[in-house]
Amino acid sequence: MTASSEASQASARLAAVRARIAQAAQRAGRDASSVALLAVGKLQSVAALRELRLAGQRAFGENYVQEAVGKIAALGDLTDIQWHFIGPLQANKTREVARHLHWLHSLDRLKIAERLSAQRPPEMPPLEVCVQVNISGEASKSGCAPEAALALARAVHALPRLRLRGFMGMPEPGIGAEATRAQYAALAALMQAAQRELPGLDTLSMGMSDDLEIAIACGSTMVRVGTALFGPRPAAG
Ligand SMILES: *Cc1c(COP(=O)(O)O)cnc(C)c1O
Repeated sequence: MTASSEASQASARLAAVRARIAQAAQRAGRDASSVALLAVGKLQSVAALRELRLAGQRAFGENYVQEAVGKIAALGDLTDIQWHFIGPLQANKTREVARHLHWLHSLDRLKIAERLSAQRPPEMPPLEVCVQVNISGEASKSGCAPEAALALARAVHALPRLRLRGFMGMPEPGIGAEATRAQYAALAALMQAAQRELPGLDTLSMGMSDDLEIAIACGSTMVRVGTALFGPRPAAG
């Protein structure tokens, strides 16, 4: 494809996703501006991210630390990108996230939170974080257990260099609309319980390419969209 047709394809996909968000918000009786769009660029090229930024998208999410750090450097001329880390995070990679990212959606244990708070450079604003909750209950999924989420949120809220914004969750794939809705509704209920005791919580990170309408109906304030914005992902590799 030529560079200009890639640019127009990025614009068209972005417009289509924004239209889905606006329509889902309207159906839920919500303002479209209450749902932020995070573009998930894992395994997509730097050029593809650049096109989407030039089409108007500002918030980008990545799943792998080395890939994220490389893309942040490669797109360093675009100073207004907001970078979110959404993948599983191991203790030996927290320093990179603390130094280079604006947000972390996948915080699932206190040890990681304490390391990030200690490693966040003093000249940077606090790292914005969501606690990831394993709403599907699948053993293979990351995230803390729902029963442990409130206690973890309280502990994270108390750390000086992190700013707790809310919760993130992913439903079990392929379970159908009703079961997906039930898992998202459970996360929304957890958010409401946390908001009753902790100030500053405003982010419910849930919804992807295939289910963002359901997530928005359940109260999502940030949808994380990959394939609907970039097309199919290249294989890992
Ligand atoms: C890949 C990914 C997404 C985006 O998934 P799509 O189906 O491509 O929209 C969202 N959230 C997380 C945590 C992901 O890993």
